[in-house]
Amino acid sequence: MAQPSMQSSYPEVHSEVRKFIGGRSRRMLIDGKWVEAASGKTFTTYDPATEEPLAEVPAGDKEDVDRAVRAARKALESGAWPRTTPSERGRMLWKLADLIEAHGEEFAQLETLDNGKPVAIARVADIPLVVDQFRYYAGWATKVEGETIPVSIPGQRMLCYTRREPVGVVGQIIPWNFPLLMAAWKLGVALACGNTVVLKPAEQTPLSALRLGELITEVGIPPGVVNIVTGLGETAGAAIASHPDIDKVAFTGSTEVGHLIMQAAGASNLKRVSLELGGKSPNIIFADADLDQAAVGAANAIYFNHGQCCCAGSRLFVEQKVYDKLVPRLVEYSEKIKLGPGMDPSTDMGPLVSSEQYQRVTSFLKAGKNEGAKVATGGDRPKQLDKGYFVAPTVFTDVKPDMKILREEIFGPVVCAIPFKDPNEVLAAGNDTEYGLAAAVWTKDIQKAHRLAEGLKAGTVWINCYNMFDAAAPFGGYKQSGFGREMGKAALELYTQIKTVWVNLGEA
Ligand code: NAP
Ligand code: MG
Repeated sequence: MAQPSMQSSYPEVHSEVRKFIGGRSRRMLIDGKWVEAASGKTFTTYDPATEEPLAEVPAGDKEDVDRAVRAARKALESGAWPRTTPSERGRMLWKLADLIEAHGEEFAQLETLDNGKPVAIARVADIPLVVDQFRYYAGWATKVEGETIPVSIPGQRMLCYTRREPVGVVGQIIPWNFPLLMAAWKLGVALACGNTVVLKPAEQTPLSALRLGELITEVGIPPGVVNIVTGLGETAGAAIASHPDIDKVAFTGSTEVGHLIMQAAGASNLKRVSLELGGKSPNIIFADADLDQAAVGAANAIYFNHGQCCCAGSRLFVEQKVYDKLVPRLVEYSEKIKLGPGMDPSTDMGPLVSSEQYQRVTSFLKAGKNEGAKVATGGDRPKQLDKGYFVAPTVFTDVKPDMKILREEIFGPVVCAIPFKDPNEVLAAGNDTEYGLAAAVWTKDIQKAHRLAEGLKAGTVWINCYNMFDAAAPFGGYKQSGFGREMGKAALELYTQIKTVWVNLGEA
């Protein structure tokens, strides 16, 4: 069995993080108890900056998912959860947010060690967004309301009203790019609405969800309400998608697996499905934009989280007139990015999450070169780093519409820069993709900006900004980027169902 090891060049690792990955991570949360996988098996999660084993976690599979679903069902139907008032649920979520905030440094370090992201970014982006997510939905717990409906039945007086009820037992399968944040996006709203949950974190990054489970029990959320099953997608994940007693599955990850989730839901019990999938988002810069702002915006759009963002601005369209001005600025910016281990506070960009992801991204780099695209910068692993899954920030130019690097989601720090002549041309090119998660437009012309915002087939359009997120703002996809909106009031739709009640009040 692999021994957790951490490089001696990480002097700042929090003592609680050391304790957690040194032992407690070997158990997962089912029915309020910390248990091993039924099979007794574990798997190893790695530090992508060193390629060394980081911790062992339970390899949960179908049997564990069954146990977790039984616990979630019991907690939903007969346990303490239905007896908890909305106000109490809200207070628990608020308290959970406070506890996460109090342990923020531990969480930031766990994310960095497991995922590779710079700890400086995890501290100011991931963790505050997680805290805010729980606070936001703490507020909603007391506001999940039905309606009274003015019905028209001749000769009869009727009271007709709706109740917004929980969907039930919810399976949540999350990815590795923002491990704790994706857990928060899914858990906050599910709990506010009164559901119970079986959550499966990604095999590459299971640690922060397990630590979150400890805080969930600490705030008094009753046993079985949240179950956290670590395991592989093909076993634990597939068992959730096809489980006959799960009422809804929420999935974030690849479009390919999204298809499998829907098939499994259809082949089993027609559980409700919401999917947040991949993207190939167009980032459109017009000549009349503030080019200083737009150049930095273009870099942040693609390089945030090392390009491992479903909404990454991976297709950069630049108006012909300023193409030769803007692309060199982006190249210059790219070359200043400091790559290194995420635990080094001076690092701008860490390694990719895993060896598979490294293979995947570097194979796209090869494909781009083979297909004749020009590497304006990057294109390989950085020479100065001999270990860790690092890829240099890369800008491709001379990209043709049918090239693989322009059509497929790379999920790495790789952007294709493409010139365009006018708004109609770029609107058509921007929409020429099977995806539709996000898009951005940079211009000072408000007419052009809003026309584009209307025409772009994407779930989010940013104007003169990129990667803006807020717990109150809905997020989700058009086309094969999925369906259902997470965050904001919109997410309540995914986690409640409407019951219509008719009451006969006698003759009119
Ligand atoms: P993935 O396979 O879609 O993984 C996402 C989640 O689904 C993980 O928890 C995974 O578990 C689980 N899963 C995998 N196969 C499953 C199955 N057959 N049934 C049920 N659950 C299953 O994503 P990936 O392989 O990690 O990354 C591949 C590509 O997906 C990336 O390059 C990127 O294009 C895309 N991606 C998108 C997002 C996003 O935010 N939209 C996030 C991550 C990846 P395991 O990890 O344990 O296998
Ligand atoms: Mg890892």
